[in-house]
Amino acid sequence: MAKQLEYDLVIVGGGLVGASLATALSGQGLRIAVLEAFALRADNQPSYDDRSIALSWGSSRILNTMGIWSQIDQAGVSAIETIHVSDRGHIGSARMSAHNEGVEALGYVVENRVMGRVFAQSFEQMDDVDLLCPAQVQSVDISDKRARLLAMMDNESLDITAALVVAADGGQSFIRQREGIDTFEANYGQTAIIANISAEQTHDHVAYERFTNTGPLALLPMTKDGGHDRCSLVWTADNAEVDTIMGWDDETFMNKLQQRFGYRMGRITQAGKRNAYPLKLMQVREAIRPRLAIIGNAAHMLHPVAGQGFNLGLRDVAALAQVVVDGHRRGEDIGQMMVLQEYRQWRRNDTARTLLFTDGLVRSFSTDFKPMALVRNLGLLALDTLPFLKKTLTRQAMGLAGKQTRLARGLPL
Ligand SMILES: Cc1cc2nc3c(=O)[nH]c(=O)nc-3n(C[C@H](O)[C@H](O)[C@H](O)COP(=O)(O)OP(=O)(O)OC[C@H]3O[C@@H](n4cnc5c(N)ncnc54)[C@H](O)[C@@H]3O)c2cc1C
Repeated sequence: MAKQLEYDLVIVGGGLVGASLATALSGQGLRIAVLEAFALRADNQPSYDDRSIALSWGSSRILNTMGIWSQIDQAGVSAIETIHVSDRGHIGSARMSAHNEGVEALGYVVENRVMGRVFAQSFEQMDDVDLLCPAQVQSVDISDKRARLLAMMDNESLDITAALVVAADGGQSFIRQREGIDTFEANYGQTAIIANISAEQTHDHVAYERFTNTGPLALLPMTKDGGHDRCSLVWTADNAEVDTIMGWDDETFMNKLQQRFGYRMGRITQAGKRNAYPLKLMQVREAIRPRLAIIGNAAHMLHPVAGQGFNLGLRDVAALAQVVVDGHRRGEDIGQMMVLQEYRQWRRNDTARTLLFTDGLVRSFSTDFKPMALVRNLGLLALDTLPFLKKTLTRQAMGLAGKQTRLARGLPL
């Protein structure tokens, strides 16, 4: 006999985006469940793994209004004060700085595992949110009146009903596939290899984006370890090269990285464990259906070149939380299309702009075709010298473009 559970809202996936939504909605008079397949502190948890994320300034404001920024900050973040963009083998480069924007940082770098620990603590403190974990969803059935999920947790069957199901179950979303929702996809033929590295000199809180003919490299400033500055490396390579790069010993890896990155931080002295992530562009064709909203990586996957994926997902969270809470306060059924359409409308432009911006960067910098190299280098020079252009792009990178949610403006839901 399955255990019957009833909620206003069930979030499938307790990764970065699902856990953020639960935290944002806690305290608003809604009964919430989060169904998550892996324990949040487990080594093999796929969202809270060995990566680090660059959180935009806008994301830090959302997390602050949600009440968890101080825990993230205390657990360890490193400020991004400058972003340096360059094109290997060409003269074009550009710098964006927090000082010019009148803020203390353009963003912050935090380890995914730190985020997992903070969210695990947050779940322990929220008494209106049930974390059902580790749990496997087995089926979803959406009708006019309710959404119903069957799941297994600790050999117990759960029969869960709710007014609204939110799919935050990542790029391979079970819910999206079970509901037969189509996606638009484009394969980059590239894989991101990540590792933490140290160099002779301090990172000085600069985030480097370096475009090379074999794919972009990003180095993000991290917190110190054992007195040494660390950087989080994202090295994008063609799929055909990945096995070779993963197979290099540390010495060879550091030498090859040095050739691509140069000596902006002196000699690279240490490289940690490497992990590989195949990359693609994906966007869901329907982000909502009656009693269903799809958010985060379940709705869109981007190339990590500009560090925008979670930031975009967090803006989904802030918008969805606002329309759900407003609908609930008006006494409306939160699974109704009327409520969800407001969410879709709101997110359309930001999602399209962020996907186009990221995809355009990858494609225009991944070619040696001379006229294109000239255009992009002129673009970088223009970015460095034209204040209006620089301001527009910096605000996009900071997550401040477009209509802002209450959480992003520092206002409670
Ligand atoms: C190399 C790399 C670097 C990146 N760097 C940045 C960056 O600097 N800045 C940035 O903003 N973004 C970055 N991103 C993107 C960011 O990691 C993602 O956007 C983010 O992880 C999306 O979070 P999510 O919760 O939507 O999905 P996920 O992180 O995939 O989490 C999904 C969760 O759902 C759970 N789940 C899956 N299926 C089920 C199921 N059937 N039942 C229950 N639970 C389930 C999983 O266990 C997981 O916990 C990077 C990505 C990569 C690959």
